[in-house]
Amino acid sequence: MKKFKIKTRKRELTKLWSKTVRERDGCCQWCYSRTRQLHAHHVVTKIYGNALRYNLENGMTLCSYCHRDIPNRIDEYIEFRNCWLWDRGIDYWKLYRQAQIKVKFTQTFFEHKKAKLLEALKKAEDIDL
Ligand SMILES: [Zn+2]
Repeated sequence: MKKFKIKTRKRELTKLWSKTVRERDGCCQWCYSRTRQLHAHHVVTKIYGNALRYNLENGMTLCSYCHRDIPNRIDEYIEFRNCWLWDRGIDYWKLYRQAQIKVKFTQTFFEHKKAKLLEALKKAEDIDL
């Protein structure tokens, strides 16, 4: 049996999470650019907790320009973010609290998250066709 390497698995999930978020959104959610490089942005950043690191509700596609610009336009960003979440029926403070739940990165956790992300990715890719 292959050894369960946490670092490798985390990297794998982050890549899959990012790809799925970008595939789902298709363009920068702030400026609608499709041509700039797209990043998957964590709505609740990991400073506040790791529990939603690989959850799709906690991901938003931003172009490299908007992503970098958040600190310079923080008030504008927060307003945009709250509207964006509102449109999707997501409450920021609920996410914020959920992010702080302690999670242990086990093989079961990894497999569960991976399966969920793969399923969502497949759905997002199907919509594109
Ligand atoms: Zn943008």
